[in-house]
Amino acid sequence: MRAMVLEKIGGPLKLENLPVPKPGKGEILIEVKTCGICRTDLHIFDGELPKPKLPLILGHQVVGVVKQIGEGVHLRKVGERVGVPWLGETCGRCAFCRSKRENLCMDAEFTGYQKNGGYAEFCVADERFCFPLPASYSDIQAAPLLCAGIVGYRALRFTGEAKRLGFYGFGSSAHLLIQVARSQGREVYVFTRRGDLEAQKFAREKGAAWAGDSETLPPKLLDAAILFAPVGSLVPQSLRAIDKGGVVVCADIHMSDIPSFPYKLLWEERSIKSVANLTRQDAEEFLQIAAKIPLEVKVNSYPLERANEALRDLKEGKITGSVVLTIQ
Ligand SMILES: [Zn+2]
Ligand SMILES: [Zn+2]
Repeated sequence: MRAMVLEKIGGPLKLENLPVPKPGKGEILIEVKTCGICRTDLHIFDGELPKPKLPLILGHQVVGVVKQIGEGVHLRKVGERVGVPWLGETCGRCAFCRSKRENLCMDAEFTGYQKNGGYAEFCVADERFCFPLPASYSDIQAAPLLCAGIVGYRALRFTGEAKRLGFYGFGSSAHLLIQVARSQGREVYVFTRRGDLEAQKFAREKGAAWAGDSETLPPKLLDAAILFAPVGSLVPQSLRAIDKGGVVVCADIHMSDIPSFPYKLLWEERSIKSVANLTRQDAEEFLQIAAKIPLEVKVNSYPLERANEALRDLKEGKITGSVVLTIQ
């Protein structure tokens, strides 16, 4: 199979011909159709996340068709379309797994990090961590649902009943979640990099009540904010924008350092919370919502061989919406 392989931190990914992997016990072999690129892939590529498996096939928003099933597989069938998200495997035994917090499992393995992912023609996955995808989404549109969508949904859940929401950053995840938030009758205020008028226009088209630069304050105080951009200085900035009792949710797996700030910004029961990974319940709930709404997914697609270019364009902020590799 053709695969884009990360051999060393900093890359570049190399196009290689590898044997098609065999599904082990409880695993399925998937013929990959598309694979979304997530900012986390960039963090792994750049060595900002510790100890990735190397060599590694990145990619944890995998859409494909089940080609072969391993011993004991009973949930998935050959020919079925499935998606593979970031959470690849959990132990099922630790205190976190036993308290419905498998996203924090002591012994979890993640797709495209400790397990090979979807920047390839085939991948294997544990059948318990694969999900059927809503039929109304094409293979290209479905890919961003698997991380931008699911993990974004977990972040949105952490805002509770907040009516007025701030989104800092308006990329793959935010452009999907604004549609979910709007369907729930919430108002969304979008903050982008200074002067990024294109992103601000895109946010208004997607239903933002207001869009402006991240250094500015919104016209009204917000009930909660989600930081989609991995920029630590947005933490104190967003605390200034939220009302008493509000929460700032950090949706990224990696973020630059948070500068110190006066306690007064946190005072009056404001809180800061991070989002780690996803649970299978998040995936099931979000995919049901995505089937109902349905979400418009803005995709920039690149063929597998151009994965390096796609990563670079994402890093340089050239992308509006989501980035997806097309495999076959
Ligand atoms: Zn566990
Ligand atoms: Zn991701």
